[in-house]
Amino acid sequence: MKPTKPQREQIRLKYGGKCAYCGCNLQKNWHADHKEPIRRSQRWVASCINDRSKIYEDYMEHPERDCIENLVPACPSCNTNKHQMTVEQFRSSIAQYVQSLNRYSVQYRMASKFGLVEETGIEVKFYFESYEQGRKN
Ligand SMILES: [Zn+2]
Repeated sequence: MKPTKPQREQIRLKYGGKCAYCGCNLQKNWHADHKEPIRRSQRWVASCINDRSKIYEDYMEHPERDCIENLVPACPSCNTNKHQMTVEQFRSSIAQYVQSLNRYSVQYRMASKFGLVEETGIEVKFYFESYEQGRKN
């Protein structure tokens, strides 16, 4: 679904004008993200016998998730990094970033050795989780 202007404003304000995931203040270029992914894909529908070309159509794996209740405001970097992941897959993906930095980034390892960065080992918590928790209390 393409949200109307009032629906987009409703989505933008879901978490006080902040990104549902990292909690940064949303800028003009914020995205409406499907919290539970709809997973857009293509499927083969036919083949042309003459030129052997194939015809594909776009489809959604979970069309039932394409609704305003499932749309949350996200900053471009969270939305791009989350891509078609579920919330839990996104959480695991972020949790592995420190391991990747230690393995592949010389700059990160040096910055770590010199105490410029500190690993906390905390769990990845999304802004919408603390926001919803705060509203319950
Ligand atoms: Zn974000």
